[in-house]
Amino acid sequence: MQKKKIAILGSTGSIGTQALDIARANPDKIEIEVLTANSNADLLIAQALEFKPNHVVIADERKYQFVKDSLANEDIKVFAGSKSIEDMMEITSADMVLTAMVGYSGLKPTIKAIENKKRIALANKETLVVAGELITKLCAENRVDLIPVDSEHSAIFQCLVGEDLNTIDKVILTASGGPFRGKKASDLAEVTKAQALKHPNWSMGAKITIDSASLMNKGLEVIEAKWLFGLDKSQIDVVVHPQSIIHSMVEFNDGSIKAQMGLPDMKLPIHYAFFFPQRMQSDFNRLSFKDYNTLTFEEPDLETFRNLALAYHAMDKGGNLACILNAANEVAVDAFLHDKIKFLQIAELNEKCMNKVSFIQNPSLEDYVNTDSETRRVAAELL
Ligand code: NDP
Ligand code: MG
Repeated sequence: MQKKKIAILGSTGSIGTQALDIARANPDKIEIEVLTANSNADLLIAQALEFKPNHVVIADERKYQFVKDSLANEDIKVFAGSKSIEDMMEITSADMVLTAMVGYSGLKPTIKAIENKKRIALANKETLVVAGELITKLCAENRVDLIPVDSEHSAIFQCLVGEDLNTIDKVILTASGGPFRGKKASDLAEVTKAQALKHPNWSMGAKITIDSASLMNKGLEVIEAKWLFGLDKSQIDVVVHPQSIIHSMVEFNDGSIKAQMGLPDMKLPIHYAFFFPQRMQSDFNRLSFKDYNTLTFEEPDLETFRNLALAYHAMDKGGNLACILNAANEVAVDAFLHDKIKFLQIAELNEKCMNKVSFIQNPSLEDYVNTDSETRRVAAELL
């Protein structure tokens, strides 16, 4: 088997470091070509010294000299700035790109990677939320595969191997419900950042952990599923499954339902995406049904967790509405993490921005870029 040559965008994050654990465990199968970070220079340098990529990029230009000096004795080219992450997609000889940056920042590098015919292992769901139509079209034109890393979408993808997409009746995304499952709005008015950051089943970056607590994450995933699998609103259900053992399901036209299961561990979907279509041996912890004798399911509470309802609405209306929702949410989550707003105000700000920013039915890339910055401006004003 030829070695997989992989670029990891966001290598210092939760997904990025788990991806490198997989690379570390498979030195004969994986070669790391590119590592990128926003500002965590120390970790980026340590990773570069260990994995010896051809290129590293630090988005924060103030850290450039430090990274460059630290890697001076290595055969590694160092770049800085967000634009360099995009440019890297033209230079690198990687054949696969793991997009593990957070938020809107993943959009342009992903577009560049697709244009350069790199297979995409997609963790950065916001890219498909912001510009799903454009991205899927670009993938089709360039014959590039998008392999989902998000656990729910990896589950659906695995259930669909060998199946005809036209036989899907619907997909059922599972949601853990997060730390506030079962709570009502009146219980949530004063919840703290520390409470929201305490996810019951998954250890993840701060932004997605807050999104999980507000069910925005499930909303983003509903939109992600639409674009990945070519579905409409009526074909995407969400069920709350607090144990996070069933990662998602597909119901087919004969009534049969397939589910993919495993322990909640992101290494498994990353590993699957790296080696797809092969299934490769791993030493990950195994699920024992002795430890999980009850799997339970509940309806999501769309009244308390408004973000999920907003995402369904954005998906239904199309155009740039999901891009507006995403940008508003990035501002809102950041404000919540900096103690500037309360938990319930996240969804309030999202809804206000969706009502305020101009709707565009058929946006171009430029329209998406402008929508993102316009929404951030409006959201900042509303704050
Ligand atoms: P983290 O916050 O842990 O890591 C984000 C990574 O992206 C870091 O390497 C960070 O660098 C880098 N980064 C952040 N902002 C920028 C920017 N503006 N420009 C360049 N690089 C940037 O996030 P996660 O790993 O949790 O999530 C990554 C993506 O994967 C998200 O889209 C998330 O929704 C998705 N995802 C994550 C899951 C998880 O379990 N964590 C599960 C499913 C999906 P630095 O360290 O220097 O800040
Ligand atoms: Mg997920």
